[in-house]
Amino acid sequence: MHLRSHGIPKITLSNGITIPQLGFGTLSVQPSREASDANAEITAGIVTQALKAGYRHFDTAQGYGTERGIGQAMAASGIPRDDWYVTSKLTNANHAPDDVPRSFEQTLRNLGLEQLDLFLIHWPLPTLYNGDYVSTWKAVTELVRDGRLRSAGVSNFLPEHLDRIINETGIVPVVDQFELHPYFANRATCEACLQHGIAIEAHSPLGHNREPLSDPIIAGIASERGKSIAQVILRWHIQRADIVIPKSVRPERMRENIDIFDFELGSEEVAAIDALDRGDAGRVGPHPATWEG
Ligand code: NDP
Repeated sequence: MHLRSHGIPKITLSNGITIPQLGFGTLSVQPSREASDANAEITAGIVTQALKAGYRHFDTAQGYGTERGIGQAMAASGIPRDDWYVTSKLTNANHAPDDVPRSFEQTLRNLGLEQLDLFLIHWPLPTLYNGDYVSTWKAVTELVRDGRLRSAGVSNFLPEHLDRIINETGIVPVVDQFELHPYFANRATCEACLQHGIAIEAHSPLGHNREPLSDPIIAGIASERGKSIAQVILRWHIQRADIVIPKSVRPERMRENIDIFDFELGSEEVAAIDALDRGDAGRVGPHPATWEG
């Protein structure tokens, strides 16, 4: 396999372990979320294309149905395990503490791994499980203690959810993965992460619905720079020190989205993109305070 290298920077997490700053998202790369043989073939094909484009960091979730396909592509690639970085997420139906290790074992089997790099609680679900996401967090951190997981984190946690798990367990997640893009800068959650030393991982970095991809201000910067709008948005994330996981099923866009390490936005360009934040009106996905998925 011809492999490209883009010199993707690494971010050091609070536990001293590094994560490639740019990875590949696998939500909706399949026609359905079913973990079927046919879907695994589709995802394995897409992940193999992403590998050729240079990606080594892959984002999946128990709920996406893509763990098996990533596992197949890893097994077929011949790339050493240590060169991969794989994140998965605990699905909403598995928050009961006993279900955490049981479902995590299935995640490892799906991926064909003995140890996972990063496992996140996908959503806090404060309105379900009697609001007890603290016991879920404890169960996830136990996976690190027994050696099957390298790093434990959360996803879609708001500042109050972060405060609560940290106050009640003393264990700080290494990552919070949440919606973040030029139209939704999610400032309160970013500030809470900075305060606690939690790495910020931007999901839906292009806006999911792709609305920021037709923004005229970003288009102006892109045309002056001779870059695409997606490249300017992803470069903005990189300069903010966000971890980013753009998704595309198209090889030419996979290559475009990773080819962002040969230019730098100036402070005025960054400020112009910062100014596009629409606050909560810019949110595309569900609100973590009420989402029951
Ligand atoms: P993104 O912000 O990555 O945008 C993806 C969309 O943009 C797709 O429609 C894709 O289409 C299109 N696109 C990608 N690259 C380009 C480009 N260069 N030019 C034009 N269009 C482009 O959305 P996602 O919501 O998929 O987020 C990325 C990842 O984040 C997910 O795959 C998932 O891993 C994670 N995520 C996590 C969530 C959580 O709750 N923790 C929630 C949502 C996402 P096409 O494929 O046709 O190229």
